Amino acid sequence: MLSSSFTSVRRKQFSAASIALVFILVTALLAGLVARSIQTITHTADAIDDARSTAAAVGALHSLRKQLGATIRDNAFWDDAFQQVSAPETKAEWIIENWASTTANYPLYDTAVVLDAKDEVVVAYHNGEDVGNKLLDFLGNGLNEMLVAARSASKTDPIPVHFIRTSKGIALIGAAKIQPSVIDNTVDPKTFHILVFAKHLTDSAVAEVSETFSIAGLTLDRAPSKTKLSLPLTDVSRRNVAYLNWPAEQPGTKSYLTVRGTLRAAAVILVLFLCAIGAVGFFTVARLRANEGRARFKAEHDALTGLLNRSGLIEQMREASTSCSDETTIMRLYFIDLDGFKGVNDAWGHAVGDDLIVGVANRLSETLPNESLIARLGGDEFAVVTVDATTTTGSPTLGAQIQIALQRVFELGDRTIEIGASVGVASTEASEVEVGELIRRADIALYRAKALGRGITVEFEDEFDADTKAQDHLELLLRQTLAGDGIDVAYQPLVKAGSGAICGVEALARWQTPDGKRYGPDMFIPLAERSGLIDVLGMQVLTKSLAAAGAWPGISLSVNVSPLQLKNPAFVQNVLTAVKIAGFDPHRLCVEVTEGVLISDPEQAQRAITGLRQAGIKISLDDFGSGYASIGTLRQFGFDRMKIDRSLILALDSDDNGGAVLHATIALANALHIPVTAEGIETEEQATLVRLSGCDELQGYLFSKPVTAAELSAFYFEKSSTRIA
Ligand code: C2E
Ligand code: CA
Ligand code: CA
Repeated sequence: MLSSSFTSVRRKQFSAASIALVFILVTALLAGLVARSIQTITHTADAIDDARSTAAAVGALHSLRKQLGATIRDNAFWDDAFQQVSAPETKAEWIIENWASTTANYPLYDTAVVLDAKDEVVVAYHNGEDVGNKLLDFLGNGLNEMLVAARSASKTDPIPVHFIRTSKGIALIGAAKIQPSVIDNTVDPKTFHILVFAKHLTDSAVAEVSETFSIAGLTLDRAPSKTKLSLPLTDVSRRNVAYLNWPAEQPGTKSYLTVRGTLRAAAVILVLFLCAIGAVGFFTVARLRANEGRARFKAEHDALTGLLNRSGLIEQMREASTSCSDETTIMRLYFIDLDGFKGVNDAWGHAVGDDLIVGVANRLSETLPNESLIARLGGDEFAVVTVDATTTTGSPTLGAQIQIALQRVFELGDRTIEIGASVGVASTEASEVEVGELIRRADIALYRAKALGRGITVEFEDEFDADTKAQDHLELLLRQTLAGDGIDVAYQPLVKAGSGAICGVEALARWQTPDGKRYGPDMFIPLAERSGLIDVLGMQVLTKSLAAAGAWPGISLSVNVSPLQLKNPAFVQNVLTAVKIAGFDPHRLCVEVTEGVLISDPEQAQRAITGLRQAGIKISLDDFGSGYASIGTLRQFGFDRMKIDRSLILALDSDDNGGAVLHATIALANALHIPVTAEGIETEEQATLVRLSGCDELQGYLFSKPVTAAELSAFYFEKSSTRIA
């Protein structure tokens, strides 16, 4: 569940980041496409216009050529002209009158030249002036090439018209043979004169072209412009003699410039918008990440101490194991259980208990190596994990260190508290840890440590598993016995100290397994308590003993009750019901409790005791003198009787102070007007001593061992009142 919630947080983070990213990418892509389209539109519009103006310029040149070509064709292929230039005397006059004089002010040509068959100049005029004697200077070498072209052209060929560089500038020049309008094969074309017309591209001529063909800014230059559009003007040999240059109109660029401000503003807005989306995405992911971090920390740590909790520890153990590949590295798991913590909690309340837990956590953190993992598993249980390279068993040393650290007193406010710890250790190769198994082993080792009397460190051994299995098997057997109502009860007489007459019996549980083995209650009572069978067992003993004691009038019946039974809210009712069903006088029944329950849960114990006493049942405090019961406790609960623990009787033989302690204990009870039973009396000396000290009832092997109901009936109630042994 924990990991699934992390997965969902991670999924959210991922989707927030990817949504923002996809949005940014798509928007950026769209913006890029729009920008590219605008650029393409701009360039295309510019290119279309460039093509248009270039086509116009080419058209203009073509039209100029065509015009001059047509003018030359009209004048050269003319019978009259042919005859005139063939007449030697008059030809110059005729030429001047018809062609040369017109050059002064004629839009179609400004230069007219006629050359004879030997290419000798007959007439040459430019702008109405005779330039015959300096024609070569004027037209340059290009003239000869033109003449060659004109002579080689047949009548049907286009008139050669080209550009030429003259001393006046750039001119369009064309030439043709002067010949009859109808081809006459009798005349040798080699004898033909040549008519040359030229027209200079003056500024006004260029301006006219510019206007006619709407090519703004058209200029005639020697070289092509690098920044403008240009078109070369070629001579008869295809050499570039000049260039027409004109600026590109760039309508696309101009349109773009008019909206550029708007586009820039849009781009800025878009960039800001994308930044905002990016920022929102970033902060969302950052926030989700922080949330995940907090949630993970919370889920893996104990709120009170800030240490790892169980799931946090397991997670970290797994991580540590995965990141370890070295076979000599050992992972050790220490389970720590505080000894006496419950007492602290009961005596001073949960607030002090919490402070103590925090104190323990701090003490562990101070004591243990920095790299070790420390966890609180709940209640007063802690765990420590170490990973080290040594294979030697360093674990007891660290376990002992933990114990020594926790044995030092805790100063909580103005209280000084002393506790201890039991430690269970399990270890395995760090690179192949099975966390569940390691925990199970440490748990078993800890259980051992507690069972062996607490305050020690126990390292897991393989035999423990066998023991656990045996325990599990016994538990099953006990369960079966209880289900079959198979718990037996033995009865041990209680006698009057003065007369030795029987005054009561104590019921003691007995268990024989189906395979005939007998176990003592010191073993199977704790087993029943651990496995939740104690309520059933207690009621079975009670029911059986009530039935048996019905046959023994006049004496009391004492029944042992486990502290755990007192915790059951239905306990009192169950007892009263059993008494009623048996038809037993409740005043003859005595319930024996030990002091453990009085300390661990005084309120519940008080409620149960009061309930029983109200019904007339007596309560006796068992094993008095073996624990910590104070006079206050005795008064508070109002016991009807106390049973001195057998250890005090045994002390009479071994301990010099034994007598004094026993005497003082009995005197204490007497002072509170509580009658005292001495149990475990085995000798006449012991019987005499306790009698003298003030005990009014005695119990022990001296009088009788626990016997069956039948034996008891036989000896006390049927035959005689002789002692049984
Ligand atoms: P306990 O209540 O102190 O019972 C007295 C124990 O002392 C009995 O052991 C009894 O056999 C033994 N005893 C009596 N006289 C002598 C003597 O002169 N010398 C020696 N060495 N021992 C003597 P038992 O029957 O083994 O019971 C052990 C404990 O198990 C009992 O101690 C009691 O705490 C518990 N127990 C027994 N039956 C029940 C039961 O039905 N319910 C519960 N909750 N506890 C029981
Ligand atoms: Ca008892
Ligand atoms: Ca006892």
